[in-house]
Amino acid sequence: MQSRRQRVVELDARHVWHPYTPMDRYLGEGRPLVIDSASGSRLRDLDGRTYLDGNASWWTALLGHQHPRLVAALVDQARRLCHVPLADITHENAALLATELVAVAPPGLSRVFFSDDGSTAVEVALKLALQYWSQNGQPHRRRFVALDGAFHGETLGVTAIGGVEAFRRPFASAVVEAIHVPPPDESGYERAFDAIARCLEEEGEGIAAVVLEPVVQGAGGMRVYDPKYLRDVRALTRDAGVLLVLDEVFTGYGRTGPMWACDHAGIAPDMLCVAKGFSGGLLPMAATLVSEALFEGFRGAPERAFLYGHTFCGNPLGARVALEVLHVYRDEQILAGVAQRADRIAAAFGSLAGVPGVARVRSLGMVGALDLPGPGGYFGSLGRRVYTEALSRGAILRPLGNTVYVTPALNIEVDDLDALLEILSVSVAAVVGAGVTADRE
Ligand SMILES: *Cc1c(COP(=O)(O)O)cnc(C)c1O
Repeated sequence: MQSRRQRVVELDARHVWHPYTPMDRYLGEGRPLVIDSASGSRLRDLDGRTYLDGNASWWTALLGHQHPRLVAALVDQARRLCHVPLADITHENAALLATELVAVAPPGLSRVFFSDDGSTAVEVALKLALQYWSQNGQPHRRRFVALDGAFHGETLGVTAIGGVEAFRRPFASAVVEAIHVPPPDESGYERAFDAIARCLEEEGEGIAAVVLEPVVQGAGGMRVYDPKYLRDVRALTRDAGVLLVLDEVFTGYGRTGPMWACDHAGIAPDMLCVAKGFSGGLLPMAATLVSEALFEGFRGAPERAFLYGHTFCGNPLGARVALEVLHVYRDEQILAGVAQRADRIAAAFGSLAGVPGVARVRSLGMVGALDLPGPGGYFGSLGRRVYTEALSRGAILRPLGNTVYVTPALNIEVDDLDALLEILSVSVAAVVGAGVTADRE
């Protein structure tokens, strides 16, 4: 008789199209993980094998899986009210969540516009910026400035400002125009700052907003940069009268140590985008936080309203869970617990720095990353081999091309973290030890 696992794999192979997955490879291998349940930082498959979740399920499960308080809040809310649209209507969870979010946000952000996911949180920021300028006397401000290597999500609008060439290329003729400037990597701060300063000077009146992932460019390869760049760009945008949008979809909620990555620079943007860990990884849920000055630009006649909103934006289930996430952060002192875990991540990655074939080791808060040799970009294959090695040892370390990284839950049990980092070290050593020139695919 067919096992449950065999049946799932067979039906999946016939009908499911997986995201960011070369389907020939996937179908050819024919042995996907089939996850059935989870708890804390462990995922369990249909055969009962467990795996440490090295990336908190695409950076969302910041409090681990199945946190009992989050699940209880979800169940309780589901019994009462699952959905009501936010147009002309409100509900308690939306009002409380917006209030508590503003209370922990960088100063000056007083209005909350809800949406569904990270891409839409940034899309909201782009459309809001364009409409703001068009109805407040500066309609020529139409273009956006973003960094090479930036990742801001999947809609056509945010694909335009994405700086990962492989993700943007197929859509090149269909997306709005954006200007990409070099990112401030380890050696290039001066060059990067000069480039964006020159861009704002030359294009000044045409620029609607600068959009940045603060301090870490996530999907572009966990590139960490100096917060000084953020501070200086904040001053630059203010002087030029250009909006600054910070995309904290990955970095927010303590991923890099403090609540927000922009706290490293002591600055606040005009708009801030939050998603992923916002609902603890339970539900799609996002928000764009906006300054009062921007909000004021949409008041007055009905035609000045922001005529935009996703069907499920601010839905009661997501809002209730997101509210409980903030309460767990407070009650369980989640940010205070990051320091000791961050030290362990830094130490483990630090000790890999000397391994031949390992390059550009970096860590910040609950992010640790290193690069393996070979073709860079999203299609490097050594990272994939580390993934396979780690899987056989009981950890999920899905790489970004040849960038191998960990972004575990912020409250991961220290024993689990040590086990994860040990599997990382052994798996990296196994791959580079087998010959660093083997990356020929
Ligand atoms: C993941 C990500 C997004 C997109 O979020 P989705 O929920 O996948 O739409 C946007 N910005 C950043 C920085 C991200 O890491």
